[in-house]
Amino acid sequence: MKREEQSRVLPDRSAEMKVLVINAGSSSVKYHLYQMPQGDILAKGLVERIGEVNSKLSHFFRSRTYTEQTRVADIETAMDLILQTLIGEDVGVIESLSEIDSVGHRVVHGGAEFIGSVVIDEKVIASIEKFCDLAPLHNPPNLAGIRAMQRRLPETKQVACFDTAFHATIPKVAHMYALPYDLYEEYGIRRYGFHGISHRYVARRAAAIMGKHKYDINAITCHLGNGCSVAAVEQGKSIDTSMGFTPLEGLPMGTRCGDLDPAILFYLEDKGYGVKLLRVICNKKSGLLGISGLSNDVRNLEELASKGDERAKLAIDVFCYRIKKYIGAYSAVLDTVDAVVFTGGIGENAIFLRQRICTGLTQIGIQLDPEANQTATTEEREISTEDSRVRVFLIPTNEQAAIAKDAYELTRSERSDRAHTYA
Ligand code: ADP
Repeated sequence: MKREEQSRVLPDRSAEMKVLVINAGSSSVKYHLYQMPQGDILAKGLVERIGEVNSKLSHFFRSRTYTEQTRVADIETAMDLILQTLIGEDVGVIESLSEIDSVGHRVVHGGAEFIGSVVIDEKVIASIEKFCDLAPLHNPPNLAGIRAMQRRLPETKQVACFDTAFHATIPKVAHMYALPYDLYEEYGIRRYGFHGISHRYVARRAAAIMGKHKYDINAITCHLGNGCSVAAVEQGKSIDTSMGFTPLEGLPMGTRCGDLDPAILFYLEDKGYGVKLLRVICNKKSGLLGISGLSNDVRNLEELASKGDERAKLAIDVFCYRIKKYIGAYSAVLDTVDAVVFTGGIGENAIFLRQRICTGLTQIGIQLDPEANQTATTEEREISTEDSRVRVFLIPTNEQAAIAKDAYELTRSERSDRAHTYA
């Protein structure tokens, strides 16, 4: 066989890569090891209750589950545990850590500086550090995860994927608060938006299902999980979203209040509520939990409401009403809407809530098919009627797959740049 013919039939081995995706939070670290470009998961797992005495590793590999109860003091120890497990004798899926070609890290806040994922260098680290005061619960553990991996895999490319990056395209008219302009200039007080990895992923999937190019779709994407946000996507780019300077703005969530008249806080301060307490109230005691006084979980609230609990019913009513308002607002902001997408734990599972949210939206072209919506699977599917002008989809989010793809592509392009440079 001639050499040119051979190169056509043999798979391109240089394209193969193993990518480790890390999502480091304050008390847990989730990980996924991907074989790219196929996107197969070789192993995945979770270290939870970090810093407590009863920390736990759950590791899933080759259709098996391995769990280990062990004290994990901090993120550094969690990373050791994860890497040792990945190369472990009985539970490992790789022989050596050198097989990991790239590590993709989820980072919550990248300010307005990053419009996409980036290979991590000292400048990127400095920016993530700078935004710690904007995301004090998230950026510090994200950063600790990056540093721990850099120390353990110094030769491996590390990539940061920001929750804010997809929203960097939101124009000034939508990201400005009507506060004194100095505050915007001096402190960067503006709307940033979050859940960007998820909104981008589901918008791209919706475009693919509709046979459209990723930059040829107008969509309203609803990420409804513990945190909830809606995004307006125009020509594949975010032009508005409900979360703002922090993830507190926008929709009511499990325990967060969402949009408020800020004067409520001044009023409560006059009544003796300190800033610390107000912060706890708005973040941890509001939303579905705050209104119902019972639970932040939609499953419990649906059950309680069906048994006649008025406040559980009210919590669901407020939640659905506010989501509906954002969908209405974003259909006004977008010229045309091709699709509405539901994702996140609630968006993917709560059949009744999707029905409630979409009821009465026919005037903006949204017509849910009750039968398709009822199907109790969480697979990607269309849930609107055939004649619905706006197509409605249920698309399970897959943030880790999106991070793996970005890390893969950036690592690959750096490698080929280097190949060109040194050729
Ligand atoms: P996170 O935002 O932390 O990733 P998820 O996207 O997993 O969270 O969403 C968690 C929420 O999803 C739960 O609090 C619960 O309200 C909701 N949820 C999960 N499963 C169901 C279900 N089967 N029916 C209704 N709601 C569900």
